[in-house]
Amino acid sequence: DARFRFDSVRREKGFFLHSGRGEQGRFEAGQQVACRVDRDFRMATARNHTATHLLHHALRRVLGQHAKQSGSHVSAERLRFDFSNPTELGPDQLREVEDIVNAKILENDPVIGTQMSLSEAREAGAIALFGETYGDIVRVLSIGDYSRELCGGTHCESTGQVGLFRITHESSVAGGVRRIEAVTGLGVLERLRRREEQIGHVCRVLRTQEQDLERRAGELLGEIRALEREVQQERQRVAQQLASGSLLDQAEQIGDVRLILAVLGGRHAELRSAADVLRKDNERVACALASTHSGKVALVTAVSGDLVARGLSALRMATAAAAILDGGGGGRDDLAQAGGADPSRLEEAFDEVRRLVRENFGGDAATNRA
Ligand SMILES: [Zn+2]
Repeated sequence: DARFRFDSVRREKGFFLHSGRGEQGRFEAGQQVACRVDRDFRMATARNHTATHLLHHALRRVLGQHAKQSGSHVSAERLRFDFSNPTELGPDQLREVEDIVNAKILENDPVIGTQMSLSEAREAGAIALFGETYGDIVRVLSIGDYSRELCGGTHCESTGQVGLFRITHESSVAGGVRRIEAVTGLGVLERLRRREEQIGHVCRVLRTQEQDLERRAGELLGEIRALEREVQQERQRVAQQLASGSLLDQAEQIGDVRLILAVLGGRHAELRSAADVLRKDNERVACALASTHSGKVALVTAVSGDLVARGLSALRMATAAAAILDGGGGGRDDLAQAGGADPSRLEEAFDEVRRLVRENFGGDAATNRA
């Protein structure tokens, strides 16, 4: 017993070429075979195919006659339909299109394929695909009295067999061409089940019931925001404490300037508040405060007003450090910041800041760490 499975069909020079792979045994020329269509697969494809005709009709009703088909792809799982329209479809338009298609499905209109000559088809007002070449005899697919298109595809016998139609995606393919993706029949059921599983999963994770899900998610987001605020306030408090106390103790003396180079926890905001306190509450103080997290460096430089007047610039310090840290910086002469992607060179960046301060005030004055 030999068996062969067909995967695809294409048309070439008037012949239909089926291709696939042997699953069992061998075939000989002249052998008699029984061919069977996979009914579930065929029906799923037919549902999606018939739905593209309904979709085309609905789009022209909602958007206007310019919404012409410019391509489509139908499989057992889904359908894809490209059409001309200058703008994105809004949610209301998509809903209207979906409603029209589903109304036509519920009306259960007959779907009838008729062979006729191309000129007869044109007279009957059938829509042909632009750019497609047709033979002398064509198949016109009619649905009710509202859709008539040239089509050789596999179809439902009536629209009711489509079951249900649901748009899953609307996007742009090219200028003036939009794409709608959709599912039908069991595909909609499958999607619905997946959504319900997702919602069930989220409910379990958030420890709530489905009817309370939105309220619970809102509550949790509120809690997270409040906690974030608390953490930030706490970090700033610590940064300010540091700035008013232990950081000054670490200062190194360069001429009459106290220079503070330190690595702290926190991010830009906390570094900035520490640097701000240092520069405002003191004279003859310059600092470069840095922190590292997830492979990045944040650095804030600050200079007290009297030193700015004497020509020292926090911005120049930040820019020089950023160049070494493989990043960028910005700010003012009294307060600036830099970010960088190379934390391993932080000490080098500090050295550069030290050099700048020395250049301004050091002369050959003694330099030592406190
Ligand atoms: Zn068709």
